[in-house]
Amino acid sequence: MAATERGWYVFPLRTGSKHPALHGADHCDRSGDCRDGHRIPEQRAVSTLTERDRALWAKHGWNVAVATGPSGLVVVNLDVPKVDDKPRPDEWNLPGIHDGFDVFATVCEQAGHPVPWDTFTVRTPSGGTHLYYTVPPGIQLRNTGGGRGRGLGWKVDTRALGGHVVAAGSVVDGRPYEIEHDRQPQPLPQWLCERLIPFKSRPRRVRASTAAVGPSCRPQSTGRWNGSPPHRPDATGRCTTRPVRSDNSSPVAHCPNRTCETP
Ligand SMILES: [Zn+2]
Repeated sequence: MAATERGWYVFPLRTGSKHPALHGADHCDRSGDCRDGHRIPEQRAVSTLTERDRALWAKHGWNVAVATGPSGLVVVNLDVPKVDDKPRPDEWNLPGIHDGFDVFATVCEQAGHPVPWDTFTVRTPSGGTHLYYTVPPGIQLRNTGGGRGRGLGWKVDTRALGGHVVAAGSVVDGRPYEIEHDRQPQPLPQWLCERLIPFKSRPRRVRASTAAVGPSCRPQSTGRWNGSPPHRPDATGRCTTRPVRSDNSSPVAHCPNRTCETP
């Protein structure tokens, strides 16, 4: 199982499907993993498969889900339009924008950063793309869908805590998920991490001069992550729309027209 060899947490999906093969809450017999109460597939995901597991998975021909949260991953899913989609939001009804690929590239360009393509990448049967990144230790990112909440935009979903993606090698409706770019997932770029971090993880009150409040996506020079605030509000508590430098090193991405406080 290639995913577990990478240290990721996995659980089985039904044959030819994206649906978990593990029992749901309605069919829980409160035994095994669920003896202390029903546990969702993410909570039952494993990073090591026993011989018995392997035999069972092979016998059923189960697909594999990577539980992104336990694996320390965030996966950016760039999707393509489907015939039964709702009309696209006006903000993305623009020339040159055809799919999640274009939206993600635009988000990166608007943030003033290159598109982080050079990471572990899986091609989905529908022609979509899964970009895998590692999440900084101590940071908890949630799932996003389209442009809602912390979402990046139309046809761009992210999967982190509470989410999973279909792993490469799985087959859904007779079509495979295939590795497109085989390298280790790269660290989620700092600006993108700060863009995705949930509002509730942000410091409630931050004075511009105060350091070390709440979680941050910011790398230290040692390559580890420190605890400085992800945002530098101005005197009114609002983030500025322009990138500013919190020290003399790299620019810090900001949340345009949005306060730093939890809404
Ligand atoms: Zn159960």
